[in-house]
This record gives sequence, C-alpha cells and structure tokens, in this order.
Amino acid sequence: MKSIDLIDISSCCGTKTETKQYSSNGFHKKLPVAIIGAGSIGLAAAAHLAEKEEDFIVLEAGSRVGSNILKWGHVRLFSPWQYNIDKVAKKLLEKRSWVSPPSEQLPLGKEIVENYLEHLSKLPEISPNILLNTTVVSISKRSTDKMKTANRDQEPFVLYIDQQGETKRIEAKAVIDATGTWLQPNPINADSIWTKEEKDLNQNIYYGIPDVAGKDREKYISKRVAVVGGGHSAINTILELSQLGEQVEIYWIMRKKKVEDAYGGEEKDALQARGELGSRIHQIVDTDKVKVFTPFHIQQLNKTKNGIEITGELNGQEFTLQGIDEIIANTGTRPDFSLLREIRLSIDSSTESVEALAPLIDPNLHSCGTVRPHGEEILRQPEKNFYMVGMKSYGRAPTFLMATGYEQVRSIVAYLTGDIDSSKRVELELPETGVCTVNTALQSAKSCCS
Ligand SMILES: Cc1cc2nc3c(=O)[nH]c(=O)nc-3n(C[C@H](O)[C@H](O)[C@H](O)COP(=O)(O)OP(=O)(O)OC[C@H]3O[C@@H](n4cnc5c(N)ncnc54)[C@H](O)[C@@H]3O)c2cc1C
Repeated sequence: MKSIDLIDISSCCGTKTETKQYSSNGFHKKLPVAIIGAGSIGLAAAAHLAEKEEDFIVLEAGSRVGSNILKWGHVRLFSPWQYNIDKVAKKLLEKRSWVSPPSEQLPLGKEIVENYLEHLSKLPEISPNILLNTTVVSISKRSTDKMKTANRDQEPFVLYIDQQGETKRIEAKAVIDATGTWLQPNPINADSIWTKEEKDLNQNIYYGIPDVAGKDREKYISKRVAVVGGGHSAINTILELSQLGEQVEIYWIMRKKKVEDAYGGEEKDALQARGELGSRIHQIVDTDKVKVFTPFHIQQLNKTKNGIEITGELNGQEFTLQGIDEIIANTGTRPDFSLLREIRLSIDSSTESVEALAPLIDPNLHSCGTVRPHGEEILRQPEKNFYMVGMKSYGRAPTFLMATGYEQVRSIVAYLTGDIDSSKRVELELPETGVCTVNTALQSAKSCCS
C-alpha cells in the first residue's frame, strides 16, 4: 500500500514550521493554524494571523482565491465596500499602497475578488502560505479516532488533502473551516430530498444565479423559465431574467405563504440596495411580468416532449405546471460535514449551524436578517481549537453577512493568540434589515434579536 507522506510545509509555504521533526511534547505551538477555504472569511483569518505573526496555512480547492464568489461574480452585492473589507486586511493592504475602493459603492462579486481578495492574497506575509488546487478531504486528530478522549487535546490535527489526485497530510495546531456552503445546493424537491429524477434533469436545472446578461443569455432566450426559491438569490435571478423583456416567460415558484413575504424590509432596510432588491421585485410582480406560484411545494418532475412538468401542491391542491424549458434553483445551500466526520462537533439540529449560534439566526424563531455579532465563545466546538466560520457557521440559514464573518475571525484569532479579553469584545455594528418579526410562541425557548 502506498503511504501518505506528511507535507513539509516549511518547504512549500514559507512558514517557520518543520512539521516532521516535532515530538509529541509541546509541538502544538510550532505547528501552523490551518485555514480551509480562501474566500473572503478565510483570507480575513489569514490577515489577522499574519498581523499577529502567527504561522498559518490556507488550503483552497479552487485555482484562484474567492473561487465560490467568482461563480456569482456578475451579481452586484447589496452591501457597499465599507462592510465588505476586513479592517486588519485593509490595514495590511494600505501599507502596500493599495487604494481602498469607494466605501459607498456596491461591488460586483468578481470585483470583491479582483479588487480586494486577490490583492490581499498577494501580500508577502500571506502569499507564501496559500496552497491553491488543494482540497481538504478529511480532518482528524493524530492517531486518535473520534471516540478517544485521553490526550485528545494534546494531539495535533491531521488534514488529508487532495492535490491533483494525490493524497497528502498536513498537521496543524488549530483549524478554521471557512469552506462556505455554495458548493452544496439544496434540491428543489419540497421534501428537500435529492431524487434521481431531479439529478437526471441536470441539463435543464441550474443551481445558482446564471449570468443572463452575459455568457448564459442564449440558454434563456425564448424560453419558459421556472425560478424556484424565495430569497435574495431568486430575486437576483428574476431581476436578471426580466432584462430579457418579452423574450422570456418567468414563473416564480416559492414555498412562502404569500409573495409579499419575499420583499423584505424594502425602504426600511438599513442596507439601501438590499431593500431595493425587494422593491424592484415587488414592482415587477405587480406589473404581471412574472407569474407567481406560492405556496407551491414541488413533489415530482417529469420530462415530456413538451417540456418539463413540475407537479406538487399549490395552496394545498394538486397542481402541475407544464411546458417549462429551464429551471433555475435558488433554494438555498447546506454545509458539507463529510470532511469533519472525525471531529467532535456541536451542530444545531434544524439550521445545521454552529449550535450556540442557532437561536440568533433560526428563521423559525424570527425573521431578523440582522444577527447579533458574535465571536469565539459562541463559535467554540467540543473539539478544542476547531472552528467553523463564515457562511458555513450559519449552516442552512441564509442571512450571513461578510462583516459578521470578519468579526468571527477577529475574535477567534485573538483567542488562539492568547488575547482572551479582545476575543470576548464585540467590535461590530451591523446594518438592520428593517424586518424583525419574532415568533413569540417559540421566543420563550430561545431568544433572539437582542
Ligand atoms: C449571490 C450572493 C450575494 C451575496 N451578497 C452579499 C452582500 O451583498 N453582502 C454580504 O455581506 N454578503 C453577501 N453574500 C453572503 C456571503 O457574504 C458570501 O457568500 C461570502 O462569499 C461567504 O464567504 P465565505 O468565506 O464564508 O465562503 P465562500 O466565499 O463560499 O468561500 C469558501 C471557499 O472555500 C473553498 N472550499 C470549499 N470546500 C473546500 C475544501 N474541502 N477544501 C479546500 N477549499 C474548499 C471554496 O473553493 C471557496 O473558495 C452573498 C452571497 C451570495 C451567494
């Protein structure tokens, strides 16, 4: 059997560590912190660790940093630059004569990558520590399975990575999982089960926000397109499709009780552009440019010679929508726990978020898009020095903002580097969504919105 070598990070990544040489006594201090994912939150963690002169390594599956964001790079963000740049990252960048984009401007997704993340990743204190095209497949504690408690905290983490089909191992003293959720879309089936018929329709179902004004235009011209989902992604998709005017027929399928529930805070939203998304879709629906089906629970899909049939329950009655050419699925995303099978986790049973975070973000309890900022203490897992951050920390809940993630990693890095006071401070104020209706029946069990 081929053995899997430990990667000597000192040779590839410019850290001061020499992983092969450490004995089991106290070698934790010398090992790096491993950050998984070079999205906005993973790279912010890197900036904070670099500022503290702490060894770290960033492992990124894609061939570029921000590779998930590039998949929706044509979409304009609803939060302006001032909320999208981490403070420490900005400080490090400005030392190298980088000029911050205008704080009030709304960037496209790809501008977040090209005008910010790529510059950050090229800083001399960060660049040598990034491994691209490197997928983390599994994480464990060295020679210790999940059941074993004795000496567990003293053992380093071992990350199994895939680089072009080759498996290698890296040891780390702490792990920050910032892998997001974008690569794991939910199905459109209302029972949330991936059926064979849905998988077989993969040529006609797009999961995400297609670039309708650009490379995906031809696919949707003269088509009957069903958009499934009631959140911001679905709204973005419909707004893009509506630019094709009469050349496209749009059908909007949602599980919400009424379409008005999708509009959000509109003019009450402290993020003007997020409020405007709601107002613009409200206008389009009012002018009948979009045919709305809600609450519609999809149960079955059939491909016929006249197009796709979508069958389910509309307002409690059996209903079939016929003759659909293309479906765009915006039904949310879910975290991937497969790489964490050997890690002791505490995950909320409904949101699949970090457990202690759930009362702040669970849409069953409240509709606040605004989440109280939180840090290391809330994000702490039973596995010492292991953290899920960013979009992944929210599990299936859709309300994550980059600014929240920057505060998460600021606090975690403070904790890991021994600044406990700073880790406990909250150094962030978030913009309100303008909607915050609390489900009082459940409020006594858990509290939110404070
Ligand atoms: C369309 C859209 C618009 C949004 N608009 C806003 C907005 O206006 N304002 C705002 O604050 N937030 C917005 N968000 C929410 C959120 O801030 C972003 O999704 C943000 O990119 C999340 O950052 P992240 O670092 O947690 O995850 P991601 O950006 O998804 O990064 C995760 C990274 O991990 C890598 N990865 C995944 N698995 C592995 C693995 N096993 N091994 C190694 N690497 C791996 C991926 O390749 C990726 O680069 C928006 C989200 C979407 C989808």
